[in-house]
Amino acid sequence: MTRDSRYDVLFEPVKIGPVTARNRFYQVPHCTGLGWLRPRMVAALRGMKAEGGWGVVCTEYCSIHPASDDLPHPYASLWDQGDIRAHSLMTEQVHEHGSLAGAELWIGGSRSTNLFSNEVAMDVANMPNAIGIPYQARAMDKSDIRELRRWHRNAALRARDAGFDIVYVYATHHYLLAHFLSAQTNSRSDEYGGSLENRVRLVRELIEETRDAVGDRCAVAVRFAADDSIGEDGQPVVGERRDMLEMLAELPDLWDINIQDYSREMGTSRFVNEASLEAYMCWVKSVTSKPVVTVGRFTSPDTMVSQVKRGIVDFIGAARPSIADPFLPNKIEQGRIDEIRECIGCNICYTGDSTGTPIRCTQNPTISEEWRRGWHPEKIAARGSDSSVLVIGGGPAGLEATRALGRRGYHVMLAEAEHSLGGRINRESELPGLGEWARVRNYRVHEIRNMPNVDVYFDNRMDAEHVLAVEANHIVIATGASWLADGRGLYNQTPLDELGPPQQVFTPDDIMAGRLPGGPTLIYDDDHYYLGNVIAELLRRKNIPVTLVTPETMVSAWSGKTGEQGRVQRRMLELGVDIVTSHALKAFDGQAAEIECTYSGNRRRIEAAAVLSVTLRAPNDSLYHELQQAIDSRGEYRPDSVTRIGDCLTPTIIAGAVFSGHRYARELDTEVDPDNRMKYDRIFYDDV
Ligand code: ADP
Ligand code: SF4
Repeated sequence: MTRDSRYDVLFEPVKIGPVTARNRFYQVPHCTGLGWLRPRMVAALRGMKAEGGWGVVCTEYCSIHPASDDLPHPYASLWDQGDIRAHSLMTEQVHEHGSLAGAELWIGGSRSTNLFSNEVAMDVANMPNAIGIPYQARAMDKSDIRELRRWHRNAALRARDAGFDIVYVYATHHYLLAHFLSAQTNSRSDEYGGSLENRVRLVRELIEETRDAVGDRCAVAVRFAADDSIGEDGQPVVGERRDMLEMLAELPDLWDINIQDYSREMGTSRFVNEASLEAYMCWVKSVTSKPVVTVGRFTSPDTMVSQVKRGIVDFIGAARPSIADPFLPNKIEQGRIDEIRECIGCNICYTGDSTGTPIRCTQNPTISEEWRRGWHPEKIAARGSDSSVLVIGGGPAGLEATRALGRRGYHVMLAEAEHSLGGRINRESELPGLGEWARVRNYRVHEIRNMPNVDVYFDNRMDAEHVLAVEANHIVIATGASWLADGRGLYNQTPLDELGPPQQVFTPDDIMAGRLPGGPTLIYDDDHYYLGNVIAELLRRKNIPVTLVTPETMVSAWSGKTGEQGRVQRRMLELGVDIVTSHALKAFDGQAAEIECTYSGNRRRIEAAAVLSVTLRAPNDSLYHELQQAIDSRGEYRPDSVTRIGDCLTPTIIAGAVFSGHRYARELDTEVDPDNRMKYDRIFYDDV
């Protein structure tokens, strides 16, 4: 197939100073949770983006000196020869596919505590540590500024030597250079503070010095915020920003624009739509002749074309869409738009940075596995035998196993109890704000539909006898998990004895099946992710009074890892949810719940007509155990394997279920060394 001519504009080459991008697809700098710790994994991950058609592929934030160290968040670094070697791996792989490689030079200021390097953090002024660690950043004097400029220049030279084509001056995201620009944080009285011109001085110097150092070969990009401060959501506060950008407009070769509110810039789909920065971006191109890029969780080629044609941007910037589908550009180019694996905006990818672990993705189970497991997002080995596979359960785990096994060429039979495929996705994507999550199902169902070697059996609730009657070579049980109604979870380690009457006690499964409480409801959330608060929203929108009780010190604490906790708690307050933190449910008698303070043990009662327990799920694994018994008691047919995957093996997030299904499909009929399941990446070093 060939591309639709409507999308031609996306494939035009664009000049960026001394280099030219082969198209308008630009993977902006994004974290991977790999950084300097895992150079081969990073190189393969970035190389895959280039193979998939991204014309520019950047690093994550890349420290210029040990005085800017962010562990436990695994950033990249350009400190020495070892780093040059490590980055060369990436740039070689990116260049192999004709793409440009960009390095985002980073100086953390008061956001980097330097717990690894033990260097003293420096910033524009004496400041508290911005992430709440009890270390301060000291004010830079003029000799520090001179040193910083030298470090930046040397890092730019190392970036060039590592083969990068674009070198960034990173002046946003509340790091050091952003503090120099801002009138709120810059309280200096020397030539780097006070007037606009003075506050812009350091950024200007770094742009000029970077150009002087590497500009003959590399383009200089500046990452810059298009607004001054966080105002009403979606209402830009432009303030001095336009003047600043006008002052610097023609100095760099490219402007990479974002905004002050990170929770909007990389907002989850629950709160933020595609192309959400447009209102902030609309003036930027009118003040510079240089190419401009921004992000917006772009997955629709029509939206992309519209952004370019209306003069909002020159490049389609992407982090998440390129993670969910590294081959998005190629699919547009080849006229395979319906095969795009669209990002669902869940931000599980971001939890890699928050938790200091390799990036994972709900839609793309191969991310981070390119090097260590040799997984390619679009290619998979042909089947290793003529075996048939029966998959039971069409939720994310069963669907992904079926899709990937089908791609390998196996004869797959997928049996689903319900009338439609999707499992928990069908239920959860109906909840407030989670509509885009249906893409997990839609992508896989679309793929499976076109596979002649895959048969789907709907309305088929399988028991052990049914399963054995199929006589498949391999049996895969993907029957999911069910929420418990007994209050057992992280805090209450045993089920609560006094929880009743049953018709007034609910689980998320009840709510998603349409069984709603009849009056004021206490939601007990010891799960700490999204379901507790999403169900609170659903009930409030039906005018049911809600009290949300959690043993944590905030609502949905783990959603801090996905960057949405602030928006979640605000939404709860706006909806009038009563929030009770640091308390656990202990009992319910149909009229009132008894809750216990997690610090003092003091108890109190809250009137409620219903209790909803969001605590723990139990695997739906009875079929698995029945099968084991049935197989043992029957002689003639024995399957080669019976395997549980997804929530049926262990209840987890959707990304975990998809990964589990994918892994099963990859590993069938292959030799996996049980003691060494994947290659182990480790850093380069250079002693000399
Ligand atoms: P996961 O996240 O692990 O994929 P889900 O709960 O989303 O789990 O999906 C499990 C799917 O399995 C559901 O669609 C459910 O209807 C189906 N299922 C459960 N038990 C059976 C069974 N005995 N036979 C066929 N399908 C089943
Ligand atoms: Fe998109 Fe979620 Fe994948 Fe991140 S984890 S790229 S938000 S689908």
